[in-house]
Amino acid sequence: MAVPYEKIPFAGTVSSPQKENEGMITGHWRTRRPILDTDKCIQCQTCWIFCPDSCVKLMTKDNPISFNLKYCKGCGICAEECPVGAISLVPELDFED
Ligand code: SF4
Ligand code: SF4
Repeated sequence: MAVPYEKIPFAGTVSSPQKENEGMITGHWRTRRPILDTDKCIQCQTCWIFCPDSCVKLMTKDNPISFNLKYCKGCGICAEECPVGAISLVPELDFED
């Protein structure tokens, strides 16, 4: 029987999306930020599977995924594993926030 994605245990340093660990925040030292190109994304969810810190969140059809920037450390694994190149890593200095 298929297990809904909300029930699958998290890997990495963040134990679950419901139990974000304030002591493990890594977003503040990230140097590159993952950005999604929604036109390229085929919603295969590979990035969600591979993110070691469970920072990829599955969203809606129009906005298929988002990144939890509080914990994303910009490792780029999601971009490397995306089969269609829909994720780019952009330098944090390019952003105001
Ligand atoms: S860059 Fe991608 S794989 Fe790495 S932590 Fe951030 S969302 Fe996860
Ligand atoms: S791996 Fe790429 S194509 Fe698949 S859901 Fe993630 S961004 Fe979209």
